[in-house]
Amino acid sequence: MKKELLDLTQSQFKTAAKNIIHKDYIFEQVFKWVYEKKAASFDDFTNLSKDIRIKLSENFVLRTLTIVKKEISNIDSTIRYTFKTADKKSFFAVFLPSKDSNSVCISSQIGCPAGCLFCSTGKSGFTRNLSRGEILEQILQIENDTKQKISGVLFMGMGEPAFNYNNVLSALKSLLSKKEFYIGKRHITLSTVGIVPAIKKLADENLGIRLAVSLHSVDDKQRKRVIPNNFGFSIDEIIDAAQYYFKKTNSRLTIEYILIKDFNDSPSDAHKLARLLKRRFLINPKVQVNLIPFNYVAKSPFLPSTSLSIEKFKNILKLNRITANIRQAKGADISAACGQLGY
Ligand code: SF4
Repeated sequence: MKKELLDLTQSQFKTAAKNIIHKDYIFEQVFKWVYEKKAASFDDFTNLSKDIRIKLSENFVLRTLTIVKKEISNIDSTIRYTFKTADKKSFFAVFLPSKDSNSVCISSQIGCPAGCLFCSTGKSGFTRNLSRGEILEQILQIENDTKQKISGVLFMGMGEPAFNYNNVLSALKSLLSKKEFYIGKRHITLSTVGIVPAIKKLADENLGIRLAVSLHSVDDKQRKRVIPNNFGFSIDEIIDAAQYYFKKTNSRLTIEYILIKDFNDSPSDAHKLARLLKRRFLINPKVQVNLIPFNYVAKSPFLPSTSLSIEKFKNILKLNRITANIRQAKGADISAACGQLGY
């Protein structure tokens, strides 16, 4: 069976292709075609002999995903991609264009086991993990399709990255590698619902990427109502792990808080969040709160907070000297905004 080249690290590929390629400089050329020139076919490797190209295509594949749908927002030009895998499963990724730099929000799993009630991915159940190659290929395919350079990657699409730890870690190393994607560590953010052992393991890797923790509540009982499957980790344990990550990496930590009307958006909730963050992180501008207005998801029991409540919530955090931003929904008209990546 053919191997997906992107599934392999460079040293794994060197071992797998040792009977095809015998010189180091040819391996270097292959990696340039794959990661720098983003070639989608071995035929494009024009500085390699025909014999090597044929042998590579007999043993490896460069693309396993197909773009089956592309929806473009009329509001902000965000693009929602639907990809189909070789085993005919579909999942999503989002291209987020901006004047200064373009980013992608990619998936790490097909579906998600966390089952957050404000998220349409959570409602679709869990199918399987994406491979390292499938994670990385989303970026290459979007770059090829948009003809735009991507300089920011958000692991905020479908799935809980911490549950696909090994593949996500391998993909992260490829994104950071000078010989592969070479994306700056401050331009990569991994969002997690709070899988404590994975946060600590990632901290020990010290890759320096940014971490976003989906907290959404400061009360364990209330949090369980939005994240029914919290995998047994309490808010205290999650904040402990986030603190460990923050101390180890010194990279920006984002606390994500989805604002739901009459559920977690009261001034008292804002004061509790401010107290928790001040107690655990003191006042540190590198610890920020991202307030996410709830985006409509079909059959959800929740409603969005009013603009007034969102502003009040933010102001309470600011009065407590906590950096807080309201995240602008991108691609809401094509169901590409936060929590809307479902079928
Ligand atoms: S919000 Fe994230 S963790 Fe929760 S169900 Fe959706 S994809 Fe999974």
